[in-house]
Amino acid sequence: MKDLHLNNEQLPWHSSCREQLNGYIANNRIPHALILAGHEGIGKMLLAQQISHLLLCDRPKNNQACGSCHACKLILAATHPDFIMVSPEEEGKSILIDRIRALANTLTLKPHYAKYRIILINPAHKLNRNAANALLKTLEEPGENNLFLLVTDQLESLPATIRSRCQTLHVPTPEQCDAISWLAKRLPNQNAARLIKIAAGSPIKAFNLAESGVEKDYELLESLWLELYKGQIDPITAASKTEKIRLSLIIEWITHWVVELVQIQFDPDLGQLKGSGQEAAGASDILKDLQSSLDLRRLFDLLEQLYQAKRLLDSSVNRQLMLEAIFISWCSINKKSC
Ligand SMILES: [Zn+2]
Repeated sequence: MKDLHLNNEQLPWHSSCREQLNGYIANNRIPHALILAGHEGIGKMLLAQQISHLLLCDRPKNNQACGSCHACKLILAATHPDFIMVSPEEEGKSILIDRIRALANTLTLKPHYAKYRIILINPAHKLNRNAANALLKTLEEPGENNLFLLVTDQLESLPATIRSRCQTLHVPTPEQCDAISWLAKRLPNQNAARLIKIAAGSPIKAFNLAESGVEKDYELLESLWLELYKGQIDPITAASKTEKIRLSLIIEWITHWVVELVQIQFDPDLGQLKGSGQEAAGASDILKDLQSSLDLRRLFDLLEQLYQAKRLLDSSVNRQLMLEAIFISWCSINKKSC
């Protein structure tokens, strides 16, 4: 991520967003508050950083920061006083009201060097209710030189009052083939298609996951998922075997598989396509076998259970119990074996 930023690489699937943003800048009509929304791992934060960088640069060229002026050097050293990052103090925690109050005091002053002061809030959906209310007051009277960039992959979790005071830019997810070819250029010695699948189509996420050896975790969960489906392992044992895999990844991967299965129920051709393509053997077997034995109502219940689990990820959940419950629901979907 850091390297990508330093290279100032323009991601191809950002081009429509960049055009829109460049239009705002060219016409001097930059919204005072802008939400960058889209799926996780598609480079929204990178885009927000690049736009901030461009706006603060003293000598921008071809809609890019020059990288060598005084302002650029300050940004690259993370010491530019007019560029303020607001994030949770700990990953996964909320952004608290004290942070927004402290910010409000700073905003009454003029920017130090630049024409603008940029406040980048990421992830914006992590503002807790009080912090969001405090931000709302600031957004009502932002001051003419302050620009707010809010980055989120959960737009619907942002209060409607905040959304109504911002313009929203939807950052698109690249087509799968574009994501694979982008990743393959950066990681020529790795299986880009497989990594994109593991990252549910998100190329930046796939890039970051590639170094963490997460493929083995994915394969383990995939085989357990299939064994559960076939009744070859019980949910309690299966849950305990996943203990080394990050819980958020487990929920994300299973959700992705279940969504695929729901889609196949409505469009069986999709299953044929995936079953005969380059999908992993385990997933293909499930897809082929499920055509006649799936209980759609239970599948939707499982999906709801997974969304609920995702919402609970930041709280102190009992992971073993959570996973057992999910696995039991999954077993009950296969009317043949459970
Ligand atoms: Zn510059």
